[in-house]
Amino acid sequence: MASQEVDAPNVLEWLRAHSDTLQDCNPRRTDSLDDRIDRSLEFFARLDAAGLTGWGWPAESGGRGGSAELRAELYDAITAAGFGMPEQVGALEVLGSALVAHNPGIASRYLPELLAGRALWCQGFSEPEAGSDLASLRTRAVRDGQGWRITGQKVWTSLGHRSNWCGVLARTGAPDSRHRGLTLFWVDLQAAGVDVRPLLTLTGEEEFSEVFLDGVYVPSDHMIGPVDGGWGVAMDLLQYERGMWAWQRQAIMHSTLSGLIAELDESDALTASIVAEAYISLTALRMRCRETVKRLAAGERLGPEVSIDKILLGQTEHLVNDAVRAVRERGFAIGDSAEARTERAEWFYSRAATVYGGAAEVQRNIVAERVLGLPREAARG
Ligand SMILES: Cc1cc2nc3c(=O)[nH]c(=O)nc-3n(C[C@H](O)[C@H](O)[C@H](O)COP(=O)(O)OP(=O)(O)OC[C@H]3O[C@@H](n4cnc5c(N)ncnc54)[C@H](O)[C@@H]3O)c2cc1C
Repeated sequence: MASQEVDAPNVLEWLRAHSDTLQDCNPRRTDSLDDRIDRSLEFFARLDAAGLTGWGWPAESGGRGGSAELRAELYDAITAAGFGMPEQVGALEVLGSALVAHNPGIASRYLPELLAGRALWCQGFSEPEAGSDLASLRTRAVRDGQGWRITGQKVWTSLGHRSNWCGVLARTGAPDSRHRGLTLFWVDLQAAGVDVRPLLTLTGEEEFSEVFLDGVYVPSDHMIGPVDGGWGVAMDLLQYERGMWAWQRQAIMHSTLSGLIAELDESDALTASIVAEAYISLTALRMRCRETVKRLAAGERLGPEVSIDKILLGQTEHLVNDAVRAVRERGFAIGDSAEARTERAEWFYSRAATVYGGAAEVQRNIVAERVLGLPREAARG
């Protein structure tokens, strides 16, 4: 992907030249999520000090300007130079894009902090009884003077326990207003009334949190988009989850698969075919994401067709991590090295790719009904 409209530095060259000195903050997957987060913050701090973060984000929102494709180039360069993807990139891509589009004032205050490795953000959408059916969420925001008070519970909040700010979707309309009565707020997780409780996952990491909000005060200028307009903002933000989020994931998988291919025993036809299937899916994903990122960078509004990107991403995550398991077979199953533990953790995480950000079954329904125009599924009696 080439984007030369501004004089952005060549990040791949810089990363390669400074590879040795950056190893102490390489955010590659390790046993400890907290360690990885610390490394990610330091990695971004060093990149920022070298003037390498912020490209592809509008200057009026705290970035350095240029096409959004520059962000895609940065993520590709990070993995191509042998580094792990910094943990803050996911929330940056999803929430950063929403802040820039719907509250540039807030973006200009908070985006530079994240780009300099001084902050982490998280997304507070899902609730115990509102996942795929997000419009049924019950966290409530009521007016209080110049601001709002939010009360409710969020769950599966990735990196919640280390985050400073959370994008919280709350109900501002009547209890039965569904998607018409939601508003997105920018919430300080250190504010009075916030209780963040980490959840331990199967991999032994506290990757998610439950976030309890008890009358948490949020000033009116910390709304992302208009009152009762949160659904539109959430749908807008999903385009970036499909686009740039998928792009940085494919960059990670590209680097993983390149390593596997290099050590493949060509006489093992079965394993070679598993790797080949993963490679074909990854290539399709990369091509698809490339077009999506270009469309986003050109300011196009994307429609239900981006669900295809999400389906491809989930499928590819499964295939690539199954390929790792097939090639590293014994070590993967019973090895106790840091590498084996990391591979197993990645494999477990890959199973979540058909759930987070919109479950695969729901995406297939969207493609069937809204892209292919097939009839809606008949209600079961
Ligand atoms: C790794 C990971 C990270 C996450 N991070 C965050 C985060 O940072 N912030 C956040 O807010 N949330 C996060 N989530 C939550 C995620 O968005 C939800 O898990 C997801 O939306 C699905 O909701 P649910 O878990 O309640 O499952 P449900 O909605 O209960 O779905 C259960 C099953 O039913 C199927 N199903 C549901 N509805 C339909 C339908 N209409 N048609 C066909 N099948 C259907 C689903 O496909 C799924 O298989 C994360 C989840 C994971 C796994």
